[in-house]
Amino acid sequence: MAVPGKAAAFRLPPLPTVGDIIKLFRLKAQKQLSQNFLLDLRLTDKIVRQAGELKNAHVCEVGPGPGGITRSILSAGVEQLLLIEKDARFIPGLQMLSEAAPGKVRIVHGDILTYKMEKAFPKHLKKNWEDEPPDIHIIGNLPFSVSTPLIIKWLENVSKKDGPFTYGRTQMTLTFQKEVAERLTANPGGKQRSRLSIMSQHLCTVENCFVIPGEAFVPKPEVDVAVVHFTPLVQPKIQQPFELVEKVVRSVFQFRRKYCFRGIETLFPESERLKRTEHLMMTANVDPTLRPFQLSMSHFRNLCNTFRKMCDEDPSLFTYNYREELRQQKKMRRLLRSTSQPKQI
Ligand code: SAM
Repeated sequence: MAVPGKAAAFRLPPLPTVGDIIKLFRLKAQKQLSQNFLLDLRLTDKIVRQAGELKNAHVCEVGPGPGGITRSILSAGVEQLLLIEKDARFIPGLQMLSEAAPGKVRIVHGDILTYKMEKAFPKHLKKNWEDEPPDIHIIGNLPFSVSTPLIIKWLENVSKKDGPFTYGRTQMTLTFQKEVAERLTANPGGKQRSRLSIMSQHLCTVENCFVIPGEAFVPKPEVDVAVVHFTPLVQPKIQQPFELVEKVVRSVFQFRRKYCFRGIETLFPESERLKRTEHLMMTANVDPTLRPFQLSMSHFRNLCNTFRKMCDEDPSLFTYNYREELRQQKKMRRLLRSTSQPKQI
């Protein structure tokens, strides 16, 4: 297969087309698994190019399916390609690709959500976190139902430098529903600014590379798709534990359309809500009448740092759960109503 515009770094022998593989192995897309395939190899080449130079790299492709992106990755001249595919029907087609690139492909029939990525690559590829990223890349076109929980899990791994980031600042090139990609990359004030924007941008450089129209997939999904590239930052923009940042960010965005103090209040028990909210917002220097989507990364940093100090002084704050308090209050009111009703004789 030729890479348009430049010579392929590795030439696969003549193979049946991806469409032929689908017919040959009767790989009908399963709607309940949100399977949508890419058959146009110019498009799969374009996705793979977003990962950067892959000659002699070690790559993990998640959800290779019938293998369109897999062919493009192999053509880029990688040293090793690890394929993780959940649906057993795709394995024979992937084995055919593996035979066409002897010694390069390892196929795992498994679930990426539970696969132990910390052991996936040779130890000698490890780099220090402060160094350039290791020559390891993760690439995948996954169902949307998997890609969003997966990126949250991988962002937590970035923060803890574990999972695929045991090897250093491993880069990722992944597809998302277009709106999710917009959320991942949204700037302050943007319509799509959300929890995902802060969680991803405080840990990674996130780049929305290009949009793939739904028509490019077989079968066509209801939505357009975007390719997003992530490079973990040497220094996270908020230097607090992942769980603490998530708690603050989730609370802020709880009431998207209201003033931001409305969400921030939910970090504190009712008995001292007003006082503590005022203290947090004043110390963090955040105007309580800004809307959540208007807050900048430094606003979030200040909020997280101040909340951390408050938690250090009173550790019960970190485990406080607003929803649980509401549930308990409701239960208590119900109980009081039932006991205050006059008994019928
Ligand atoms: N990469 C192929 C392409 O672009 O044509 C297939 C894309 S299809 C949207 C998603 C693929 O991910 C399917 O092959 C599906 O079986 C696989 N998949 C879904 N969930 C998975 C999981 N949890 N772990 C690994 N693979 C998964």
